[in-house]
Parts: sequence; C-alpha cells; structure tokens
Amino acid sequence: MTHVHVIGGGLAGLSAAVELTGRARVTVYEAGPACGGRARSYFDRALGTRIDNGNHLLLSANDAAFRYLGLIGAEKSLKGPGKPVFPYFDLEADLAWTLRLSRGRIPFWALPGGARVPGMRLKELRSLFALLGARDETTVANCLVPGMLSRRLLEPFAVSALNTDCETGSAKLLGNVVRQSLARGGMACCPWYPEKGLSESFVDPAVAHLSVMQGEVRHGARVSGIETRGARVTAFALGAERIVVGSEDYVIFAAPGSVAGGVLSAHLSSFQVPDAFESIINVHFRLPFVPDIRGRVAEAGFVGVVGGITEWVFVKGDVLSVTVSAANRYAARDNEELKAMIWNEVRRVIGPVTVGGLPEAMPTARLVWEKRATFAATPAQDRRRPDAKTRFENLALAGDWTQTGLPSTIEGAIRSGVAAAHTLGLVS
Ligand SMILES: Cc1cc2nc3c(=O)[nH]c(=O)nc-3n(C[C@H](O)[C@H](O)[C@H](O)COP(=O)(O)OP(=O)(O)OC[C@H]3O[C@@H](n4cnc5c(N)ncnc54)[C@H](O)[C@@H]3O)c2cc1C
Repeated sequence: MTHVHVIGGGLAGLSAAVELTGRARVTVYEAGPACGGRARSYFDRALGTRIDNGNHLLLSANDAAFRYLGLIGAEKSLKGPGKPVFPYFDLEADLAWTLRLSRGRIPFWALPGGARVPGMRLKELRSLFALLGARDETTVANCLVPGMLSRRLLEPFAVSALNTDCETGSAKLLGNVVRQSLARGGMACCPWYPEKGLSESFVDPAVAHLSVMQGEVRHGARVSGIETRGARVTAFALGAERIVVGSEDYVIFAAPGSVAGGVLSAHLSSFQVPDAFESIINVHFRLPFVPDIRGRVAEAGFVGVVGGITEWVFVKGDVLSVTVSAANRYAARDNEELKAMIWNEVRRVIGPVTVGGLPEAMPTARLVWEKRATFAATPAQDRRRPDAKTRFENLALAGDWTQTGLPSTIEGAIRSGVAAAHTLGLVS
C-alpha cells in the first residue's frame, strides 16, 4: 500500500493526513510532544486551567475548515451566535455599538438606520471594491477611504485577518478574504470559535480519527534532512533514524516555512519562503468567579475593541482572554505594564455589561507572546510563498506559508493540506 509521510502535525499536516487516510497508509511526524502547532490548547499552571495558545476566530465562510471538522466528527465543537453579529467598543470615544450584517449580499446593514458602524458614510464602502480589485503591490492603506468605517471596522478587520498593519499589509490578500466572506453576504460572516479549546476542536478529534483509520502519529519526531535521487525523495532523517521513502511512497512537508527553508533549499533551486514575521499577544485573565455577562457581548461570546491595545476580548467561563494582533509594535514594552494596561481596557469594555462589574485589581494573568505567529502578510512576503507542487514527483508542500491565496489562517492551513494531497494525485 502507498505510504504517505506527513512531516509536521499542525493543522496543515493533520488536514493532509485526514484527507488521505483510507486511501493510503499515513504517518504524521510531529517534532513536538503534541500536534496542533500554532493552534493548540494546554494546561497553564499559573492560571490553574486549560487555555489556548491564542484565541482563534473562524467565519462561516471558512469552507475547508468546516469540511475538515465534518470529516473528523467535530463540526459541533464550535460555538458562536449563529448570525453575523459583532459587538464593538471604541475606547477613545467610549462608545459601544453592534454591527449586525444583513444576511444576504446586499449591504442593507450599511444604510442609515441599519445596524452599521457609527459615523460611517456610504461612500466609504468604496474601500471594499478597492480591496476586491487590488493589484499585487497594493497595500491595505492604499485602498481605505478615510472615515469611521475604516477606523472602526476595516482597519481592525485588516489587522486581525492579516496580522499585519494596514500600511504594509497586502490588499490582495485582504481582498481575497473579503471575496470569500463579506462579498458572499452576511451569513458567510457568522463568527465561530472553539467551545472548549483549539485542541478539543481541531487536533484531538483528528488524531483520534487517524488512529481509527490505522494512521500513525509519531511525536517527538523532528525531521532534519531529506535525501533525493533524480525526481524523487528517497529518504529523510529523524535524528539518527533514517526513514526510507519507497518507490510507491510520498512525502508532504507541512512543517513551518522556516524549517522547510533549512531542510529543502539544498534540493530545490531558488527555493524561497516567507522570512518576516508578525507576533500576536494573548493575555488570559482568570477571574475568581464566572462573570455574569449580559446583552450583546453575552450573545456573541466576544467583543471587538478599537482605540486601545486590546483588539478582541473572548469570554471563556472564568477566563477573559484578550488578543492583540500585529504585536511587533509592542516589542519594547514590559509584559507587566502591558498586562496592567490591557486589564484596565478590559474593565472598561466588559465591566459595564457584567453584573456587579469587574474588580479593579488585576486577577491572575498569563501573557502569551507568539513571536512568529504568522508571516508578515505584505506583498513582498506573499511573493515568497511557494506552491504545493515541487520538482520532486513524490514531494508536496503544505502549510499556511504556502501559496494559498489567503493570509496565515486556519482556513489557509487546512486548504493547503488538501491541496498537497491533490497535487500528488492521491485524491481526485
Ligand atoms: C496566537 C495566534 C492566533 C491566531 N489566530 C487565528 C485566528 O483567529 N484565525 C485563524 O484562522 N488563524 C489564526 N492563527 C493562525 C493559525 O493558527 C495558523 O495559520 C495555523 O495554525 C498554521 O498551521 P500550519 O499547520 O500551517 O503550521 P504550524 O501550526 O506551525 O504547524 C507546523 C507543525 O510542524 C511541526 N514541526 C516543526 N518543525 C518540524 C520538523 N523539523 N519535523 C517535524 N515537525 C516539525 C511543529 O511543531 C508544528 O506542529 C493564529 C495563530 C496564532 C499563533
């Protein structure tokens, strides 16, 4: 039976493995002690509870992600309001509002009297058309019509989706996100997030599925080199161990781009991968009680924040979890100072919708700084992303850093795994 060796057990590798089990013998080689890569859950000792490395938000438009969840039997593990509703808070203006997108394609939500962004003008919708028609070199800032729609919605949306600031972020990549979400109508924009945790939704069910389907996952298996002959990969190294790739066998390289650069560049001439990165900060505050949160924030389970450091606050039982994207700009800040500033913002946003408010004193907090959360989604970095196909007939690439047409996202990672399986001709 054909044996497919999948190197890297992040969502791209798991997606490829799930796609191929039942059609081939599959082994996943994961360097770490568990799969999941940049989308994982773990027990945090300081907080005394399980957390995700970072809050992850999906949209109902993420077709590949939902298909993957269906294949591994985890489609019911996500939670969300079931409608396109996004509560927001502007810290500068001390203003709360809720964006309720119209269900279909016509943006009735943007009309005066609709549940639109306060202060926006209709002509600002031109920004969306500019993004949809953006050329390779255009930045997001080039496309945005100044005004409240940009300040209160499109800029924060761009920073979250690209994890890159608007001045340097690729308008083409953001345009692709808009094309696959907002342009399909509000019902394509319903927000979803894991009810329990990233691992419980995306990782553990996939590993269980692979096990049932006779797939194998090897942890602590770090691939350090490959051997090739002619147009084929013939072996790879796992520390001192040498894994032979048989004449009927295939390799999907789904480890991070930086690792691919180190391992593969000797074998692939002019091989380029993204080499600039953006970080994401998450701060998890564990309250000594489960806050009784009411109204629009309770309805959505999260709130978007503009005008401060905080960008999203997720309500997860007794944990209030904050995301700050494109966080390289805070590199010089002290972690304790950041935590204190963010807690003050959280109190202003969540306190008023919590019965009894939130304590002034900061509760136990954990700041997780993912330094290389994503590649910087600039036009120059996008050009460095390779296709899934390589010059070797039995080697394909996968990962959010490959040329998916999307920024670094779960949807992109999962699509890339499926694309790798297709590229090798193993699924039709
Ligand atoms: C804090 C944070 C917040 C995010 N928020 C969102 C969000 O809201 N929505 C969204 O859609 N996306 C979000 N993302 C992006 C998303 O998590 C990633 O795009 C996705 O998880 C990438 O998956 P991947 O499989 O391509 O890469 P990775 O997750 O990096 O997986 C690569 C795997 O390869 C393994 N590996 C490394 N070296 C080797 C080796 N030599 N041999 C074998 N294995 C190796 C690694 O351990 C890892 O498990 C976020 C990311 C972060 C960090």
